[in-house]
This record gives sequence, C-alpha cells and structure tokens, in this order.
Amino acid sequence: MMNIPFVDLQAEYKALRAELDTAVTQTIASGWYILGAEVSAFEAEFASYIGVEHTVGVASGTDAILLGLRALGVGPGDEVITVAHTAVATIAAIELTGATPVFVDIDPDTYTLDPALLPAAITPRSKAIIPVHLYGHPANLDPILAVARQHKLLVLEDCAQAHGARYRGKMVGSFGDAAAFSFYPTKNLGAMGDGGAVVTRHDEVAERLYALRQYGWQQRYVSSTAGYNSRLDELQAALLRVKLAYLDGMNAARRRLANEYAQALAGLPLTLPGERPFAHHVYHLYVIQTDRRDALRAYLHARGIGTAIQYPMPVHRQPAYHHLGYPAGSLPVTEQIAARILSLPIYPTLPAAHLTGVQEAIHTFYNTQPVSVCSNR
Ligand SMILES: *Cc1c(COP(=O)(O)O)cnc(C)c1O
Repeated sequence: MMNIPFVDLQAEYKALRAELDTAVTQTIASGWYILGAEVSAFEAEFASYIGVEHTVGVASGTDAILLGLRALGVGPGDEVITVAHTAVATIAAIELTGATPVFVDIDPDTYTLDPALLPAAITPRSKAIIPVHLYGHPANLDPILAVARQHKLLVLEDCAQAHGARYRGKMVGSFGDAAAFSFYPTKNLGAMGDGGAVVTRHDEVAERLYALRQYGWQQRYVSSTAGYNSRLDELQAALLRVKLAYLDGMNAARRRLANEYAQALAGLPLTLPGERPFAHHVYHLYVIQTDRRDALRAYLHARGIGTAIQYPMPVHRQPAYHHLGYPAGSLPVTEQIAARILSLPIYPTLPAAHLTGVQEAIHTFYNTQPVSVCSNR
C-alpha cells in the first residue's frame, strides 16, 4: 500500500516556508489588512508578469469572472458563449450577471472550446465569449478572437487553470478584453485561502472593477454603481507575491513531470495529453483518457494512489443547469470524455518515488487485469 496523495499543499508550503512565514508575519505586524501595499504591489507585479496594464485583485476566481463580465457591460438579456466542460464556477458567474450561458462543444485534443462550432452559437443577443484554458492548455485563441471581432463580441478568458500558460509565445490573459484568474490553493499560483484577479488592458474596465469590488465606490462612502464586497486581502497578496517569483520554475517542474508521465505511459491503451504547436502547456492537471476509467481509478485507490476526475458531470447535465435546455447528447464530445477522463497526481514538488509509483501501478493494471467484457463503452 502506497501513500501517494493527488496533491500535497503541505509540501508546497515547506518548499517556501521561510519566505512565506516572513510575508505573513510582516503583514500581520503592519496592522493594515485590506487593500494596502501588498495588494497594490501584487497587482503591479502580476500585471507585468501577464503583460497587461491592469490587475484588480478580487475575492475568488468566480468573482473575477462575475466582476469581469459586469465591468465589460454584460448583464440581463445577454448571452455568453462558453463550454460545459469546465468548473461550474464559469457558468455560475455568467448567471450571476443575469446573462444566459450558451454552450458549445470542445475540441477533444485540447479539451477547450472548439472554434469551428462558434458561428452556429451566435444569436442577436450574443455579447461575449469565455474561452477556458482548461488543465493549463490554452484554447485556440486566434480563430476565437477572429469570430469575436467579426461579430463584435467581447472576450473574457478564464485563466483559472492556466497561470503562465502561453499561446503563440504570449501569456494567456493578455488576449481578451479581460481575463479572470483564481488563486484557489491548488491552482498553479495558489494562495492560502480564496483569492482571484481580473486582468485587462483597458483603463475604463479597470476603473469599473476597482469600484465593483468595493461597494461600487468611486470615491469613499459614495457608491456610483451597485457593487460587491470582493477584495483580495493583504495576507493573500503577500503570500502570492512570494509565490509569483517561483511560478515559472514551478510550471517548468510540472512540464518535466508531464514529460516523464508521457514517456512512461506511452504504448498503453490510454489517451495522453497533447500540446498543440501554438501552446505552452502548464499542466495544472495531467488528464488521461481510458475506456476503463472507473476500474483503473479503483485499482489505483486500492493501492493508496489519489486521482481525481475534472469533471465527472458536464455543467449542462447538472441539476442546477437543466433549465438551460441542453439534453443528454447535445454536447457529444463533452459527454463522451466525461466518462473517460482521469487526473493523475501532478504538482511541482511531487516526489520522484511517487511518480514512479503511479507509473508502475498503471502498468501493472494493464498487464494483470483482464479486460472486462462489459466496459462502459
Ligand atoms: C477554479 C476555477 C474557477 C473558480 O475559481 P474559484 O477561485 O474557486 O472561485 C473558475 N474557472 C475554472 C476553470 C476553475 O478551474
């Protein structure tokens, strides 16, 4: 029996413990906890990292999408085109603006929005497109941006799983009218609590975001619009500043691990993740596909190996979203892969012995387990 967790946030902490502890202690000692020097410094550093003018820290990735859409002017009566193969947060945020999510299917090679299906989804009410750079692989942005330009649609990138990923050499998050990031602890850039940010190159969008995140204030105690309380706090910003300096190194470690998985698992009846020529993948998740997903998962769990499924039920099939009117079979690629995907452990400090342990267990599964006659496909 092995003990190979799917993710180990304690190990991540230990790797940077001295710097993280100092950041926390100094912030607490400063006596300033909300919207101060740490948030401002992080916002400037993250904007410069992504290559955009503005970063506005908010309370979560969900809020980053919600406030980002609102700052772009999306609201009731509008349609926002996106995918159902994503974290439910993408869809929840669209509905919170009062707009209606419209789904298109995904490209099975990248697990991201299939640009060829976009034109058919456009109606007179279409207002924006949200490409999701899922698992750390960028969506194919050029054709998406071309459709957006042609139909005068806004683009908000969901970068919650893609900090540091690049499309044709440029950071994701720098292409759309705005982009949303999450700093949920397990993300490639993770806080120690909730956090998020919207990045944008438009000054007026940033101004609206500064107001929206704090009661709609343009000036203290005077709300110029109906806003929220959605602030990134000083402690999280201080921690994120420490980790941002290591993000490229941590992403490089993820890429090395992905490469080792790819070599070790080649030749097995598995679909391994690919990297399109336009992509610099940052492997937030290492997702494989197999006909025998549930059996493989149970086998690994019985041996103490943690795995996950991101995501087992596409958003359009979840009870909260039946009202959107997408019956079973309406997004065939999304639905097919949901039954076949499995995420293997991948995080920057994953010990070599764990990597080998997962690889060996998968090989053993395929060599010794009889293929079941009645598999799920
Ligand atoms: C994590 C995630 C979100 C939501 O972020 P939170 O910080 O948890 O609110 C949105 N979209 C995607 C694709 C995500 O992975």
